[in-house]
Amino acid sequence: MSQTIRTRIAPSPTGFLHLGTARTALYSWAYARHHGGQFVLRIEDTDVARSTQDSVDQIIASMKWLGLDYDEGPIYQMQRLARYQAVVEQMIAAGTAYRCYCTPTELDTMREAQRERGEKTHYDGRWRPEPGKQLPPVPEGVRPVVRFRNPRDGVVTWDDLVKGPISIANQEIDDLIILRPPQEGAAGDALGVPTYNFAVVVDDWDMGITHVFRGDEHVNNTPWQINIFQALGAPLPRFGHCPIILGDDGLKLSKRRGAVSVTAYEEAGYLPEAMLNYLARLGWSHGDEEIFSRDQMVAWFDGSHLSRSPAQWDPAKLAWVNAQYIKQADDRRLADLVRAQLATRGIQASADERMAARCALFKDRCTTVVELADWLEMFQVPVTPAEQDLATHLTDAVRPALVALRDRLAAIDWDKTAIGQAIKDTIAEHKIKMPQLAIPVRVLVCGRAQTPSVDAVLALFDRETVLDRLQHVRAML
Ligand code: GLU
Repeated sequence: MSQTIRTRIAPSPTGFLHLGTARTALYSWAYARHHGGQFVLRIEDTDVARSTQDSVDQIIASMKWLGLDYDEGPIYQMQRLARYQAVVEQMIAAGTAYRCYCTPTELDTMREAQRERGEKTHYDGRWRPEPGKQLPPVPEGVRPVVRFRNPRDGVVTWDDLVKGPISIANQEIDDLIILRPPQEGAAGDALGVPTYNFAVVVDDWDMGITHVFRGDEHVNNTPWQINIFQALGAPLPRFGHCPIILGDDGLKLSKRRGAVSVTAYEEAGYLPEAMLNYLARLGWSHGDEEIFSRDQMVAWFDGSHLSRSPAQWDPAKLAWVNAQYIKQADDRRLADLVRAQLATRGIQASADERMAARCALFKDRCTTVVELADWLEMFQVPVTPAEQDLATHLTDAVRPALVALRDRLAAIDWDKTAIGQAIKDTIAEHKIKMPQLAIPVRVLVCGRAQTPSVDAVLALFDRETVLDRLQHVRAML
C-alpha cells in the first residue's frame, strides 16, 4: 500500500476540548504516526453563533498540552466558504444537488400533515428535479437552501474500522440541506454557509483524508457523507466510529456529571502523558498493557483492537495511572509544575534545587500535582497545627525533649544525617520513643502528624523555619 495515510481531528470550537474528542484526536494522531502519515487539525466553525476564538485557543492549547502535534492546520472552515460554494454550483450543474425554496412554515405544514397520516417526517422532495417533473414556480423573495439529491434506491455500506460492516438503505435517508443561504441583511456578495455533513466531505476530500476516526454520534451521518463523496467522484476514506464514553453512573459522560474537558484535568494536576495513556486505553488495548509511553502506543496503534462497546470513565483508574507517571516524572519538571500550582494560590516559590528534592520525597504519596502542591505548601507558608493534634501529641512529658531537640538543631550541620543524629540523641537523653518526639515535631513544623521520615523532611526546610516553628513549644512550657 503506497498511499500516504492522512487523518484529522475536526473539533467544533464551541467549548473546551472534550475528553471524547481528545480520545479520537489521539487515535487519529497515533494512526497517522504509526504509518508515517500526516495528521491535520481542522476547526469546524460553521456554527457561527456558537463558535468562539476563545474555544479555538483552548482547543489548540489542549492539543499542545497533550503533545498531539499536527502537520497541517488549524484550517478554518469559515475561510473556505468560496470553495464549498463552488462545489455546490458544480453539483447543481451536474444534477446531484438542487435549490429548494420551501419556507420554514411550509416545511412545518408538510411535517404536520405527515404526522397526521402517521408517517415518519421527511422532506417530500417537492423541489427535487426528476426527468419529466414540473417543478413549482420559484416564489418571490425566498432565499433557497441547497439540498443534496440523495439516491432513492440501494444501500450504503461501509466496513467500519471499529464496528465492522454497516448498511443503511437509501430509502431511510432524506435529501439533506447542504448549503444555507447567507443571513438576512448580509452583504450582497455574502456566501451561504454549508452544513456539517457537506463541509466535512469537501474538506476530507480536499485534504486527502484517508482515515476518519470520530465519535459514535456520527454513525448516522456517514451514509449521507458517503453518498456525497460518491456524487463528487471523490475517493472514500475509511471510517471508524468510537463508542461513547460513559460516566460512572452508566450515562453518557457529560458536563452535568463532572469534568469533561482536557483543561479541567490539566488544572486538577494530571500529567499529559497520564491522560494520553488513560484515554488510549479507554476503547483500545494492546494485550494487558496498562502503562505505556507515547512511542509504544504509536508503535502498536495499527487500527486494530478498538473496542466496540462503550468505555466507562473511571476516575480511580485515571488517578492510579497518574500516580504511576508522577512517580516516574523528573523532579525538576514536577518542581516547575508545583511552583505554577502554588502561584495559582498566590504563593510564590523560588526555583531552587530543594523544590525538586521535596518533590522527590513526597511524590510517591501523591496522585496529582495538586496533591503534591498541597504537601509542599508547608515549605512556603506558615502552618496552623490542629488544636486536636497539639493536645494529643504535645504532652507535658515530651515538651522538654522538644526544647532540647531545638537547641541541638540550632547547633548542628544542616543535613539529614546530622538531624537524624540530633533526634536520636534527644530520644536517648529523654528516654522516650521515636514517635513520641517525631510526631509532635511533624505537627509543629509541618502542621500534620504524618509525613515521610522526619529527618528527611526537616532537612528540606530552612533551619530558621524549623527553629521558629519549634519555638512555639517554649511558650507552652
Ligand atoms: N465537528 C464534528 C464534531 O466535533 C466533527 C465530526 C467529524 O469528525 O466528522 O463532532
